Amino acid sequence: MKACVFTLGCKMNEVESASLMRGLEARGYEVTDTLGYADLYLLNTCAVTAEAEKKSRQAVARMRKFNPAAPVIVCGCASEHDAQAFAGREGVTLVAGTMRKDKLLGMLEERGILHEKEAAFCELPPPKRNKTRAFLRIQDGCDRFCSYCLIPYLRGRTRSRSAESILAEAEGCGAKEIVLTGIDISSYRDGGTDLGGLLLKLKEIPARIRLGSLEAGVVSAEFLAAAKEAGNVCPHFHLSLQSGSTRVLRAMNRHYTREQFLQTCARIYEIFPGAAVTTDLIAGYPTETEEDFEETLSVIGEAGFARVHAFPFSMRGGTAAAKLTDLPASVKKERTARLITAGKEAEAAYLGRYCGKTAAVLYEEEGGYTENYIRTYVAGGREGSMYEVRIGKPFRDGVSAEIIKEIK
Ligand code: SF4
Repeated sequence: MKACVFTLGCKMNEVESASLMRGLEARGYEVTDTLGYADLYLLNTCAVTAEAEKKSRQAVARMRKFNPAAPVIVCGCASEHDAQAFAGREGVTLVAGTMRKDKLLGMLEERGILHEKEAAFCELPPPKRNKTRAFLRIQDGCDRFCSYCLIPYLRGRTRSRSAESILAEAEGCGAKEIVLTGIDISSYRDGGTDLGGLLLKLKEIPARIRLGSLEAGVVSAEFLAAAKEAGNVCPHFHLSLQSGSTRVLRAMNRHYTREQFLQTCARIYEIFPGAAVTTDLIAGYPTETEEDFEETLSVIGEAGFARVHAFPFSMRGGTAAAKLTDLPASVKKERTARLITAGKEAEAAYLGRYCGKTAAVLYEEEGGYTENYIRTYVAGGREGSMYEVRIGKPFRDGVSAEIIKEIK
């Protein structure tokens, strides 16, 4: 959730606003003092001149242009001097004046205007497991505020589960593969333990560890060294690229360039030769030109993706991107189709490299997945058992394979 505390007038107002901002931050809000899109507006007004009062009233209209659905709370001298000038305006939920600033946030909580987002990771009982694959929650929430995404507004700020609790669940789950899951597992942190540190703590678990979706920024040389040292981490890295154009990535509020992303892929292949790097791509972001799109198309081969999930851009009300003009549906559809075709070519090239090679497959139904996420179709295995297989030809959404021997 984002709050904007906008201040007019004197130093005193600024100091009081700074305290309000801190109080909002403590309640889990992302806070800004610059007028822009927000879920909640606090307007600290000034009445030192008639002009200052006018500007204070005008600020309400400016806020409503950014988000007409957000409540506007007015405090400060202009609202004390002429409360009615604010109380009657559309969107103004509370006019507080100058006297009760210490009580203001409490009043907003009582009225249900402030929503305290969970600050701690919410522990849940372990879900029902099968002995093959377990999804293990390690983190919730997101602080990244990608311009097209509603998740940070809905799930709140990032928070991590304690490494101790993760370890206990991993030890007790009995699955052969554990998938570390969260909204933004790249931001995992429990005291001094980051995601790489967590992998090292899980190294004695008798299961292979698969990572959920990662942000490219977390895949540093140190992180990869920790994943390698752990010894049980699958060489499969799902890095959501979203666009191959640095210009569009900037517009999306993604904090890397095309070149940095490609360097990350190269780093992965150096430390984990044969690793699968899979990705998500958005076709037709509002500011995406045909040239930008061509860059996304060409990055698929350059990055050597093993699998591509391509989606047309979907405008979500309440996000920063919702203020932009959507591209025609036909353009988004056509670009998505081209990404899917290029993705399938890249996938075929990746699979082709494994024809005749051996791999370890965790048997689920009609076969299973290799460590590097190749779907193999194998006859004659037992669910939950691990097999060394020889990979054959492309088949359905993966490859055919035959069992060489069971791996105990
Ligand atoms: S796309 Fe992912 S990283 Fe970006 S804001 Fe949404 S949940 Fe966070």
